[in-house]
Amino acid sequence: MIDSIEFRTFVNKRTSTFRIATGSSDVEENIVVKIISGDDFGVGNGNPTDVTKETRQSVEAFLSKVPKKIVGTEEDDLVKVHQRLDSIAEGNTAAKAAVDIALFDLLSKRDKKPLYEWLGGTRDRIITDMTIGIESKETTVQKALKHYKAGFRALKIKVGLDLEEDIKRVGAVREAVGPGVHLRVDANQGYTVEQAIRFCETMKAYDIAVIEQPVKAQDYAGLKKVTEASDIPIMADECVKSVLDARKIAREGIADMINIKLMKSAGIHDAVMINRLAEAADVKTMVGCMGEIQVSIAAGLHFALSSENVVFADLDSHFNIVDDPSSGLEFDDGHLIASKAPGLGVRTPLDLCRCK
Ligand SMILES: [Mg+2]
Repeated sequence: MIDSIEFRTFVNKRTSTFRIATGSSDVEENIVVKIISGDDFGVGNGNPTDVTKETRQSVEAFLSKVPKKIVGTEEDDLVKVHQRLDSIAEGNTAAKAAVDIALFDLLSKRDKKPLYEWLGGTRDRIITDMTIGIESKETTVQKALKHYKAGFRALKIKVGLDLEEDIKRVGAVREAVGPGVHLRVDANQGYTVEQAIRFCETMKAYDIAVIEQPVKAQDYAGLKKVTEASDIPIMADECVKSVLDARKIAREGIADMINIKLMKSAGIHDAVMINRLAEAADVKTMVGCMGEIQVSIAAGLHFALSSENVVFADLDSHFNIVDDPSSGLEFDDGHLIASKAPGLGVRTPLDLCRCK
């Protein structure tokens, strides 16, 4: 039975300003949740962003209403917990993700298994890319080489503000890093359908693995047009926030792949459902992230490791956060590696305080 819940907000600078087609950020706010049941506890966190229309204040306000709804509920009754969370308000998926992740941590810790194993996975690592925001061509190349030297074997380049510049930047990165590096591109809704189709056509010269959300999130028909025209797989991100959105994408052939983020799916419970549904429709998935610290990055990683249908990981935000209050993940030869410790295998400042 869930005995109590507490949360604490951490505000951390980014190592440098991160600019994408829809805005830029210098600071990340992460709200860490701790749930206690008997002698066990679990931690999770939420990172509010524009994508889910949440703020630090909205997450804190939501979380302060959670104890009344779920204290006394069985911690393994995830359906009931989510129903109770949904009864507080719809949306608020980053806040709900924090609670969901804490419960998955608690349950797998109690069974003394790393979460990926608890979820049925057998691998303990996956290649993660490192994302480069929208910068000048020179800075983009410089950063690509820096990340390559730091061990990254996959890079994700943000585009979507200036089509011609974007094409030159991606070309320059491919030339600089050579053929061995896996390149992904994310337009964050920045193009019109016509621009997107032209962009996809030019990208064929640069061996691009996937192109993410080239057009507006609400333009499903436009996205489908781009998917049909492009030889490079198209991935839906901003337009998939729920199981129902994923169903629409898979059913109607709107995109080739889906970017699952725990902050959009309200945690692991629905992420598993989205991925299964995608798998049934031959749609591969990637696990992405927002501006998250290691707690929920670990959760995304364990989820990614649990299913072979998750073929890509874009779990890099913690590398760019100054003084991450959480730790436990390892990085080696381009791979993000989960701890073999039970649960998420992360340490946080909330671990020691027992609020029973
Ligand atoms: Mg994206």
